[in-house]
Amino acid sequence: MAPLNTAKRIVVKIGSALLVDAETGELRLKWLKGLAKDIAAQKQAGRDILVVSSGSIALGRKVLGMPDGILTLEQSQAAAAVGQIRLARAYEEILEPYNIKTAQILLTLDDSTDRRRYLNSRATFTALLACDVVPIVNENDTVATDEIRFGDNDRLAAQVASMAGADVLVLLSDVDGFYTGNPKTDAEAKRIDVIENITPELEAMAGDAGTANAKGGMKTKVMAAKTAMQSGCSMAIMLGDVDQPLLALENGGICSWFMAHGDPQAARKQWIATMKPKGTLIVDAGAAKALKAGKSLLPAGVVGGQGGFLRGDMVSIIDENNAELAKGLVNYDAAEVNKISGRQTTEIKEILGYPGRASLVHRDDMVM
Ligand code: GLU
Repeated sequence: MAPLNTAKRIVVKIGSALLVDAETGELRLKWLKGLAKDIAAQKQAGRDILVVSSGSIALGRKVLGMPDGILTLEQSQAAAAVGQIRLARAYEEILEPYNIKTAQILLTLDDSTDRRRYLNSRATFTALLACDVVPIVNENDTVATDEIRFGDNDRLAAQVASMAGADVLVLLSDVDGFYTGNPKTDAEAKRIDVIENITPELEAMAGDAGTANAKGGMKTKVMAAKTAMQSGCSMAIMLGDVDQPLLALENGGICSWFMAHGDPQAARKQWIATMKPKGTLIVDAGAAKALKAGKSLLPAGVVGGQGGFLRGDMVSIIDENNAELAKGLVNYDAAEVNKISGRQTTEIKEILGYPGRASLVHRDDMVM
């Protein structure tokens, strides 16, 4: 069965060419309405859905009357600032009839490469999805410069899938899958329907393509697939310019699937397990029991901390006899831990002067 049919959380990446008419620079509303139907149906099926959408620059440049061709950095930053508002509003408007709430998230590269920022972004996605919201994500093109940007939304979408713990990523593209060569120029090129592993041979097959408005070619899609697969997320490349593409995919439509080997939870735990501990938390017998029962670690069960760890660092969790119980990513730094150890979660705000996360180490961020 196609991974989409069993998915719990999906990310859909939509390129500028699908959203914005190349000639008029206007939004392709008819297509968008089909997508809205798709999104509503996915939510109806109980799936969380996140949208990674390009189009801010393509929309904004038209509004500002900028010429065709390559824009300067400042021009594209200005175009993105103007276009992003319209883009976000378009999603809000097409989903409103289905009573679906939307949110805008603009990310920069740092939000995925810096661990603390990564965890922060992840917490925001988790909170929005818990409120049943559909996050609409784009790169923050207005502040990104070439040296510090993703540059293409294929890789951004894979990072979002990883942060959000999605199990399926769908790239809506201008090709219907991954080919052994460039299907536009090579008559022998064949589509590969299922890819289990990204080999050097496969990487060599990914040429480089792209249109005036779209940044990513097959190369960035393969890079995206690598990130997704490592995060326990399967990725599909399919033709986006059809009515209700997700429905088509669910019905076994043509595409290429890059198959993940595990699930997002297992991939995340594996990632945590590879980190070096920067400190230690000592917990009492009650907390030790709670951890073994799969609970998060709350401040109340902590007797003390050792080491100069910072928020987001990996710490080792030990009992009072020095036996290691678990490892996990800590939500507070060492100085804060010393202040809130042994105290109730409800007291955190009063003790620290600001509210923090309820747990010291969340169970999703812990390996036993
Ligand atoms: N973030 C860019 C935009 O919204 C597009 C990047 C891409 O198409 O990959 O215009």
